[in-house]
Parts: sequence; structure tokens; C-alpha cells
Amino acid sequence: MPASPARRRTAAPAVIQDHHVKARTGVVFAVKKGDRIRLTDLEGQQGLDFWAFRKWGDKVVRPLEFLSCEHTKPSIERLFPTVGDAARTNFRRPIMTVLEDNSPGEHDMQYAACDPTRYKELGFRGKHASCQDNFHKAAKRIGLALPFTPQPWNIFCNFFINPDGTFTVKAPASRAGDNLTMRAEMEAWVIISACPQDLNATCGGEPTDIRVEVLR
Ligand SMILES: [Zn+2]
Repeated sequence: MPASPARRRTAAPAVIQDHHVKARTGVVFAVKKGDRIRLTDLEGQQGLDFWAFRKWGDKVVRPLEFLSCEHTKPSIERLFPTVGDAARTNFRRPIMTVLEDNSPGEHDMQYAACDPTRYKELGFRGKHASCQDNFHKAAKRIGLALPFTPQPWNIFCNFFINPDGTFTVKAPASRAGDNLTMRAEMEAWVIISACPQDLNATCGGEPTDIRVEVLR
């Protein structure tokens, strides 16, 4: 008599959240440890700013523990994580691990979020959407008010560092449908801004929408 087959867990995780993030706007959502986050550049050449804060229940954990680009770089000895690397928190603990990267693989950790002052610096007059504003609006929704803006992880952003130490803001090399998947290593609130930068090459000149899926 054949043995009954061993019970197996389904290998493919299911999409449990699906956010269509309009150009120039932001989103906030919760993930549990082990969840996967898939970020898709829907039309190509679109950068997005990514932040994550450790949570417990509905609350942001205090003292704050959040994805820190500054703490990530010494741990991985690279300018930004690649497949298999984990972004670290300000307590140097893994918070997000890159599982799969179906993009040209540029994900900057140097550039501050765009903000009203940056647009003024680039010659814009009037009100302009910014990743900084998107961040603080989203943070407010989870009861988080910060007197500063943490360094974002700029997914798909191609701030190219030259061998002589200078850098060049290149347009993202990502094409329509390119995506990156990471795994949450702790329960977290995630904030994402579809960057509104249209005064230089950051988003190829024309900001577009992004898709954010959470899989479990
Ligand atoms: Zn921006």
C-alpha cells in the first residue's frame, strides 16, 4: 500500500495586498515577518523612495527602529543591497532582504528624498509634489511625526558613482514591468513614494505609476 504523500505547504505565495501607486503620490502599508514585497516599475524609468519602520501591533516601535541606508552600507560593504543582501536597521539588524531583482539593478542609497527646497534649487517656482511630503503625509497616517526625513532607499534610481568620486544622475535603466522582490525580516510599516522628480533625469523626465504587491 503506497504511503500517503507528505503534506506540503503551497510553494507559491499569494498576493494579499496590491497597491497601484499613482505618479507623484505615496502609500503606507503593513507587512509581517516573512512577507514578500514586489515593486514593479509599470512604465519604465521610474524611481521610488522606500522606507520601513519596525512595528508591533499597530504601533511603530519606540525607540524607533527603521531601515537605515547608513547602517546597511558598512554591513554589506556595498553602495546598496543586491540579491541576497539585507538592508539593515539603525540597530544593524536585517529588515529587508533582496530575493529577486528583475531590473538592471541600480538601487541608490546616497540621495536624500526630493523636497521643496530641492525643487527651488533646481529653479522651480510654486508648489511641487515631493517624496519628502509624501513620506510625512503617509507617516502621519500611522501616528509617526518626525522632525527629519530618513534617508530613503531609492529603488530603480540610477545615481551613478564615477571612479573619480563624482556622480551622474542618470535616468533609471528599468523598463516597463521590471521589478524587485524583497522579504521582510521583521514586522514593519512600509512607506513608498513614486518620485515626482521631473526637473532632471531621476525619473526619466516624466514621473509614472508604480505597483506594490505584498505576497504571503
Ligand atoms: Zn523624489
